[in-house]
Amino acid sequence: MIVIKSLDEIERMRRSALMVSKTLGMLASEIKPGVSSLQLDKLAENFIRDNGGQPGFLGMYDFPNTLCTSVNNEVVHGIPSKKPLVEGDIISIDCGVLFDEYYGDHAYTFAVGEISNEIKNLLQITKESLYKGILAMTAGNRVGDIGHAIQQHCELHGYGVVRELVGHGLGKKLHEDPQVPNYGKRNSGKLLKDGMVLAIEPMINLGTHKVRQLNDGWSIVTQDDKVSAHFEHDVAIINGQPEILSTFDYIYEALGIENKKSKKAS
Ligand code: MG
Ligand code: MG
Repeated sequence: MIVIKSLDEIERMRRSALMVSKTLGMLASEIKPGVSSLQLDKLAENFIRDNGGQPGFLGMYDFPNTLCTSVNNEVVHGIPSKKPLVEGDIISIDCGVLFDEYYGDHAYTFAVGEISNEIKNLLQITKESLYKGILAMTAGNRVGDIGHAIQQHCELHGYGVVRELVGHGLGKKLHEDPQVPNYGKRNSGKLLKDGMVLAIEPMINLGTHKVRQLNDGWSIVTQDDKVSAHFEHDVAIINGQPEILSTFDYIYEALGIENKKSKKAS
């Protein structure tokens, strides 16, 4: 069942989305060679609690940490570890919070020091595909239009679009209906309406789209061990149009990246 949110509820969700956005922004300046994902996890947990929120992933389905930290060939659901990051790694950080009854859910793939141009391109195209998916999230369109837009853009560049993991509705539950695949056919799937809030989150591989799960019961890795990227925004439909509730602005500010497209999906 898809839960439609009132404008008041969307405003409350905007605050949850802002909290996850600020958490990733805080982490952005801490990510460097020698730092472990477990250290980042502790920083995130403290930051969220200090700001009156609760870590959204901790304990959910028995997940042991605040962040999902997925390094290099890890796609999503990586468990924070003591292993230090090294120059040239990428790390996808997915963060959830529960604040004022609503979840925020947000992800970004960070470079650790200098990375290769091949991997830079993957991050760039994956992020672009996120915004292309969001642009398709208008009232009257269907869920398949979102996935179609993401898939088209990524496959045009030869990348693998992960099938097994998908975006989702968001609200008082972390995972609500509908599921939002990052692939799909135009004009297929559930109808998009005002008041829907979705977490749009392309998970895109440099090589094959195929993935497997590690023995830890969580980490999803690419079958060919090539790297994978993951970006996620929380998006509401208001007056027929997508409005992004989360923002990468805090990350851009921390990294000194000039930003042209954080506020709007265009
Ligand atoms: Mg997430
Ligand atoms: Mg999500």
